[in-house]
Amino acid sequence: VVMLGIETSCDDTAAAVADLLSRYGGVAPKMAEEAHSLVIDQVVRQALDNANLTENDLSAVAVTIGPVGVQKARRIAGQFSLPIVGVHHMEAHALVARLIEKNLQFPFLALLISGGHNLLILAHELGHYLQLGTTIDDAIGEAYDKTARWLGLDMRKGGGPALEELAMEGDPNSINFSVGQFLGTCLFSQIPMKQHKDCNFSYAGLKTQVRLAMESRKISPGSDPISLTNSEGRRSRADIAASFQRVAVLHLEERCQRAIEWALKIEPSIKYLVVSGGVASNKYVRARLNHVVENNNLQLVCPPPSLCTDNGVMIAWTGIEHFLSGRFDPPPPDNEPEDAMVKNTLHPDWWST
Ligand code: ATP
Ligand code: FE
Repeated sequence: VVMLGIETSCDDTAAAVADLLSRYGGVAPKMAEEAHSLVIDQVVRQALDNANLTENDLSAVAVTIGPVGVQKARRIAGQFSLPIVGVHHMEAHALVARLIEKNLQFPFLALLISGGHNLLILAHELGHYLQLGTTIDDAIGEAYDKTARWLGLDMRKGGGPALEELAMEGDPNSINFSVGQFLGTCLFSQIPMKQHKDCNFSYAGLKTQVRLAMESRKISPGSDPISLTNSEGRRSRADIAASFQRVAVLHLEERCQRAIEWALKIEPSIKYLVVSGGVASNKYVRARLNHVVENNNLQLVCPPPSLCTDNGVMIAWTGIEHFLSGRFDPPPPDNEPEDAMVKNTLHPDWWST
C-alpha cells in the first residue's frame, strides 16, 4: 500500500508518501492559511519526487479537512482513479506513533499536546477513541507561544522551542506559579486540580500569572532585545520561562498519572502512553512524562520532533491504517465540481466522551 497524505488543516502545507515499510518523503514549509493554494502543487510534487514515485504508484490518497488539501486530493484521485481516505488531524497525531513503534497495539493511552489541543484519549481500537480529558480554555502549545511572545523571544524558530531554550538558563523554582485553578478548586495550593476527578486541563490562569510576574519585574510584554542581552533582564526572563515550564508540565504529569490509573482499570492490557503533537518535541516534557510512565510500568512512545509537529507523514500513515481496514471513499469522478469536493469528503469525528 502506497499512500499520499495531504495536510492543510492548520498553517502548514504538507504532503508525504508512506508505505508499510515506513519509507517516506515529505516537505512542510510554514505557510499562512491563504498561501496553501500557492504551494500545494509544488509540495505534493516534491513529496512524490522525494519518495521516487509517481501518481501511478499510489494506492490511495489521504487528506485532512481543509478546502485546499481536499481539492488537490480529489483532483489527483479523480485523475488516477484512486480511493480517498478522510483523516482526522488529531487521530493522525496519535496514530503516527504506530509507524515508529511497531509493537504499539491497541488499546493504548495518548496525550496529544499541540497549538490548539490538549487531549487525553483512550484508543480502544482503530476508529474508537474515548476522550478522557480536554482543555477547558487554552492548549499548552498556545500558552508556550503566548509566553514566548511576551518575553520577547525570537519567534522565527517557534515560540515553544524558543521558550524551552531560555528555560534552561533559569531557576524553575524561582516563581510559585500554579495551574488548573479554573477547574473549580482551591486557588492557593500548588497543584489545585488534585481534588478534581476528571482529566481536563486549564492553562488560562497560568498565562495570567505570567503577565503578573512580568509586571512585578518591570518587564513589558513584547520584543525587547536590549533586556534579552542584558544579563539581569535575561536572567529574570529565564526564571519566568523555567517556572512556567515546570508548572505547565506538572499539569501534564498529574493528568497522565490519573488517566493511567483510571484506564488500567478498564483496559488492564494497556502497555503504552503515546505523547504526540508539537509540544511533544520538548525534551523536558519527554523526560518528565517518561518518569510518570516508568513509575507505572508502562512505556512511552514519543515520535521524533519532525513527526510530532504537523506533517504529511502522519496523514499518509493514518490513511494506510484506515485503507487496510476497509474505510475509504470510492474514487471521485474526474470532472467533479470544486464546491462538491469538500462536501463529498468524509472527515468523521470519532471522539466519544
Ligand atoms: P493542532 O494540532 O492542535 O491543530 P497545530 O497543528 O497548529 O495545532 P502542531 O504543529 O501539532 O500544532 O504543534 C505546534 C505547537 O507546538 C506550537 O504551539 C508550538 O509552540 C509547540 N511546540 C513545538 N515545539 C515545541 C517545544 N520544543 N516546546 C514546547 N512547545 C513546542
Ligand atoms: Fe497539529
